[in-house]
Amino acid sequence: MAIRSIVLKGDSVLEKHCRPVTEFNDRLHLLLDDMTQTLLESGGVGLAAPQVGVLRQAVVVLETNVPEDGEEYVIELINPEIISEDGEQRGPEGCLSLPGQYGIVTRPNLVKVRAQDRNGNFFEVEGEALTARCFCHELDHLSGVLFPERAERMMTPEELNEDKH
Ligand SMILES: [Zn+2]
Repeated sequence: MAIRSIVLKGDSVLEKHCRPVTEFNDRLHLLLDDMTQTLLESGGVGLAAPQVGVLRQAVVVLETNVPEDGEEYVIELINPEIISEDGEQRGPEGCLSLPGQYGIVTRPNLVKVRAQDRNGNFFEVEGEALTARCFCHELDHLSGVLFPERAERMMTPEELNEDKH
């Protein structure tokens, strides 16, 4: 496994549509392992393949809604699609490809995704609150969409400072 460098906004790779994954082989597994390691190292909650320069429909999301004595774990989503959503949440959102920038984005509060796992098996998974936001954000990456396009406005440096107090 290796930490891969994260592509920053301005690179056209982040604006492209990703192709579906068709081969569930060692190369995919290595990509997913590297993405997870890169995600955990960066302290983020989600990472999409184009953010490490790979135009394939693969994302990793850190599930943080776990019981107090439970451990956070990474969900791998290959060729994911949102099949249902419910409710609404409005709040700050950021991205590892736009370090230090945050915007106010409204997302559904509950999202159900159908995807394939690293071996090609289909499954469904539900995300709530931050995880739902993350599913939407990462799936947007696969269509070349970055969160500022979804934001009602970006947060000012003053607001970001206030959040630290
Ligand atoms: Zn992002």
